[in-house]
Parts: sequence; structure tokens; C-alpha cells
Amino acid sequence: MRKLEERILEDGIVLPGDVLKVGAFLNQQVDTGLLADMAEEVFALFSGCGVTKILTIESSGLPFATAVAMRFGVPMTFAKKHASANMTDDVLSAEVFSYTHGKTFRIVVGSEYIRKNDCVLIADDFLANGNALKGLISIVESAGAKVAGAAVQIEKCYQGGGDAVRKTGIRVESLAAIASMDGGRIRFRD
Ligand code: 5GP
Repeated sequence: MRKLEERILEDGIVLPGDVLKVGAFLNQQVDTGLLADMAEEVFALFSGCGVTKILTIESSGLPFATAVAMRFGVPMTFAKKHASANMTDDVLSAEVFSYTHGKTFRIVVGSEYIRKNDCVLIADDFLANGNALKGLISIVESAGAKVAGAAVQIEKCYQGGGDAVRKTGIRVESLAAIASMDGGRIRFRD
């Protein structure tokens, strides 16, 4: 998506450790006009797939997942990184190594929120090594529901997570696909 790529070049900051900071428009502060355009793009890609629910992981995927869910007119559900007191033991869970925190979380979703007859579109801000996405897929599959696919705002293609998931037959779409950030210079995939 050209508009997102331009904004990344303008306001994205490449940090040490291969992390792209997009706090100015996507993560910590959200450009709502751009967000609405991204939701529209995802709707164009996946409408007609019978999506009944959008699933993400807290916390930085929440604005995108909510905007996408609003466009589809379906609920947004998110996996929590910490089980809270108001959750029962009846949960769907997966172990996920967090790229940005450098540790493993057990992510959980109350099992009442994903049912066998759901067709779930997974939405997240970044796709790097694919750990978050694989954890979310495993949660949907453990509920016996269908994965419609995954939509991510930014894929760092060179980290391989997206292609590993595509190889399993799951459709993965990214709105901006970064081929490399060598030397702090962002290059998009052709
Ligand atoms: P993965 O599990 O695919 O390795 O990483 C995906 C998760 O790590 C995303 O949910 C995102 O929150 C975080 N992440 C990965 N790479 C980046 C990055 O370059 N910048 C930011 N801001 N978050 C990232």
C-alpha cells in the first residue's frame, strides 16, 4: 500500500536490533485516516472469505484489528499476554516468544470467544519471525475454527515468518513489505 510505504519512509525510525519504530503514526500515536484506509484495503482483500471474527494479540495490534473489525462489521477478539483474574480456566492458549520483549509469553483467549463455526482473520501490526502469528493460528485451530488468513500492517520479509506461514497454505497479506533495513535504509519488496 503506497500510502503506508511513504509514511514509513517519512516517519519510521530504524532502531538497533532491527526494530522499526512507527510510534508516530501506527503504534503509540495512531493516524486515524491512514488506519481507515488500511482497514479498507484489508476488507478489499478478504471480503467474500466469510470472516466472522478478527483476532489479534495485545497490545500494539489493537487499533488495526479494531479498525478492520469495524469495516467487516464483526467482533474483534484479542489474546492476552497475562491471564487475568476475571478469566476462567477454560482458555485457549499458546506459547509465544516476543520479538520486542525478548521473552516467552503464554497468550490466552477465553474459549467462549472463538467457536468451531468461526472463520477468523488474524490481524497484527508487525510480522517478523512469525511467532506471534503462529501462536494465534494455533489458538484458532485448537478451537476447531477456520483461519481465513492473516493481514499485517508491516511485514519484515527478510525475517522469514510470513513465508514460513504461507508455506503451510495459510494466506498472509501485508500492507507494506520490507525487504531490508540494512544500514538503517528501508527497502520495500518489489
Ligand atoms: P514476530 O512474532 O513475527 O517475530 O514479531 C511480531 C511481533 O513483534 C509484533 O506483534 C510486534 O508487536 C513486534 N515486532 C516485531 N518486529 C517489530 C518491529 O520492527 N517494530 C515494532 N514496533 N514491533 C515489532
